[in-house]
Amino acid sequence: MPERAFCVHGHFYQPPRVDPFTGEIPQEYGAEPYSNWTEKIYHTCYRPNTLIGNFEKISFNLGSTLTHWMEQHHPDTLKEIVRQENAVFARLGVSNGMAQPYFHTIMPLADKRDKLTLVRWGLRDYQRLFGHLPQGMWLPETAVDLETLDVLAGEGLQFTILAPWQAKRSDLDVTQPYKVNLPSGRSIAVFFYNSFLSGEISFNPCATENADRFVQDWLLPQMGAIQRDGAQFFLAASDGELYGHHQPFRDMFLSHLLDGAVEERGILRSYPAAWLRNHPLEQSTEIVENTSWSCHHGIERWRDVCGDAPDATWKKPLREFLTQLSQAVDAIYEEKTSGLVGDLWALRDDYAQVIMGQADPNEFVQAHAKKKLNSAEVTLLKNLLAAQHERLRMFSSDAWFFYDLDRIEPLNALKYAAHAAHLTQLACGRDVSQDLLPIISRAQSQQSGLHGDMAYLSYLSRFNLNYA
Ligand SMILES: [Zn+2]
Repeated sequence: MPERAFCVHGHFYQPPRVDPFTGEIPQEYGAEPYSNWTEKIYHTCYRPNTLIGNFEKISFNLGSTLTHWMEQHHPDTLKEIVRQENAVFARLGVSNGMAQPYFHTIMPLADKRDKLTLVRWGLRDYQRLFGHLPQGMWLPETAVDLETLDVLAGEGLQFTILAPWQAKRSDLDVTQPYKVNLPSGRSIAVFFYNSFLSGEISFNPCATENADRFVQDWLLPQMGAIQRDGAQFFLAASDGELYGHHQPFRDMFLSHLLDGAVEERGILRSYPAAWLRNHPLEQSTEIVENTSWSCHHGIERWRDVCGDAPDATWKKPLREFLTQLSQAVDAIYEEKTSGLVGDLWALRDDYAQVIMGQADPNEFVQAHAKKKLNSAEVTLLKNLLAAQHERLRMFSSDAWFFYDLDRIEPLNALKYAAHAAHLTQLACGRDVSQDLLPIISRAQSQQSGLHGDMAYLSYLSRFNLNYA
């Protein structure tokens, strides 16, 4: 019988809920008895999955906004996740973890320079946590274009995971990874997940009540339906929060599924990186650019109205406002720093050291300057780099995912935007967002009537009052 393997990938992630005014996550309604949702999901999902050893059994990625929170609030749990990944790495020589761009950005909507920074920051964060680089990178919402894949390949990454409808081939066989050739001459491997198994795990609670029954009634019939002569890799992908949070006790389902139920039926447990090492790519495909796993209209969900949120007319002006604001912030960054440092954008990439607490900000800017800086120049560089961090953070996809503007995710995007504008104003003496207010005034909440420009201006004045 040809070799057959099964793998579950979990995408574990929390939006940036931290309030930039306090540096903490505010008390959140509905998360009782915990003070916020991240803490609640920690107790229902991250902690139990760690205690039961699931991070050794699955393929996973953990967003940096989540790991940084865990580092602060539950460092022992994070250490245990690292230990489990390290055990796989020691055994197989490849990782069962995947990195993620540092913020949960819809990559096709970012320009190449931002793509590079987000991928480099994400890789640095993975290496810092796990002690080595990963072979794969998970893309937020699996949103993809060729430039993103090329950036991944250029940074040494070997593979990503996409939904099957993101391949151009109509005869796609999802039990094998495909080679995607890129315009630069590079290539990258893509695993396409099994959409039936992934959908059943994610949306049909009956499927995941019992691991043995899942193998008998879901996995084996799928394996029977897709047969070919060569080795086959069956991959199911879902949000990690499903296991224990969205659906109770699924942490235990997952554990038994991958530590008993599957092997008892002669199916191997494997991971994408391990599979790729032992099975050379036989087929290639092109991808459909500007597609994702969670919007059936490409990537419209994150920039305009679409069938997933047909009344969300606030999304387009929010995207436009943030895009133009980031261009204005970048123009000041270039103008004010070009005499002080060499490669401004390499400096931003290296700034990851400061964000991750590996370098002192004052020493960092001095070490990267073309000359000895005075204290005003040090402050200028620190403010402009902090503005770059905020303007990258404000594009986290969560801001556009839901139906209304008056929610923590879009309002946090406006807070980070106001912070970026404030820091830029400290460097250049003027408010670069002023001319853009008519754009954000077009974004309105249907639920509360909140106007985007009013919310933005209230945040901006708070920053100016607090720190002027
Ligand atoms: Zn959609």
